[in-house]
Amino acid sequence: MNPHTLLGAFERAPGDPHRPSSTPIHQTATFAQESPESFGRYDYARSDHPTRGVLESLAARLDGGAGSLAYASGMAAIAATFRMLDAGGRVLLHHECYGGTARLLEDLAATRGIVVRRADLVDAAEADYDRLLDAGIDLVLVESLTNPSWRAPDLRALGRACRRAGARLAVDATALSPWWQRPIALGADLVIHSATKLLGGHGDVTAGLVTARDHEVLARLAWLRNAEGCALAPFDAWLLLRGMRTLGVRLDRQGASASVVAARLAERDDLRRVHFVGLPNHPDAIRHARQASGPGVAISLETGDAERSAAMLRRLRRFPIAVSFGSIDSSASLPFFMSHASVPPGRPKPPRDLIRLSIGLEDPEDLLADLTDALDATRHAVAGAHA
Ligand SMILES: *Cc1c(COP(=O)(O)O)cnc(C)c1O
Repeated sequence: MNPHTLLGAFERAPGDPHRPSSTPIHQTATFAQESPESFGRYDYARSDHPTRGVLESLAARLDGGAGSLAYASGMAAIAATFRMLDAGGRVLLHHECYGGTARLLEDLAATRGIVVRRADLVDAAEADYDRLLDAGIDLVLVESLTNPSWRAPDLRALGRACRRAGARLAVDATALSPWWQRPIALGADLVIHSATKLLGGHGDVTAGLVTARDHEVLARLAWLRNAEGCALAPFDAWLLLRGMRTLGVRLDRQGASASVVAARLAERDDLRRVHFVGLPNHPDAIRHARQASGPGVAISLETGDAERSAAMLRRLRRFPIAVSFGSIDSSASLPFFMSHASVPPGRPKPPRDLIRLSIGLEDPEDLLADLTDALDATRHAVAGAHA
């Protein structure tokens, strides 16, 4: 099915006799039963819920998995994935990862005996994967594009190596969403989304999703979610579903605008680096094109000077300084001080001068004019300050 059509091809309210054209928000915690011993389709919102269920079946179809589960945030989805490990379980992680993931793993290592191995999983060859997995690894976690330098690990090669080693491959697919990449088709067992970002797309809800390739894993995750109570609330499920309906049109446009902005920034002679996987000279451009259909909406740049980067952010008018990315509104951040501030000491962090831009639905020429003005103005200010 055409993916734009797929976004609308779901039952809005299964079983509802009124056949509403939009999925209703069932703002209820409980569902009455016929008798104490007989349970209907739903009994309690923590376990299963009709509004959330519609969202989850759409997510499962987009990801191409056995089923999806919605959580209160991306971090709740990641925590749920780690809960699949037994005490003493072993995780292999790419050394650059989201700050919240690094912080959580540090604690799981200290309190639950989870063993965490970190390695470069982007520049490694398939034989390196076999060697790294040899140490009894249970779970490999990589991001579809590593944040914030947007490197692309080879998901097919990782999937093959995981199968040889009997490990599970989990892909944090936040940066691309199912619109641009379907990790299960490439070999992943679990797909995780911070739906707060591209899937929700409007900056108005925090949510997470886990999609499992097979039913057995899905059942264990569902059991844990009911036991621990971290499911997404009905209204938030509805907001996320509403945002997802326009995923395709939003990302087609945001990805195209990000490509224009990144190409023009890359032409400047006063930036040390521009990180965007859609640029032809990005180290993973060819690999990425083989496993994804779009470049993402976020661009990172290094000015070479942390003071200049901060001054530039303060001068921007069309990019509010805000964590997160993927919204229809553009934003800018300094990951070292913001999204990656929670990276534990001694772990790799982005450089202090790295600016992360998220490109929204505004006109790309207006965004470029704003960026050009802020870069031109700060080039001289900082050069003068250091003279
Ligand atoms: C934001 C983010 C998360 C965490 O998601 P929340 O919804 O903020 O809890 C996890 N992984 C990546 C790659 C992210 O960008």
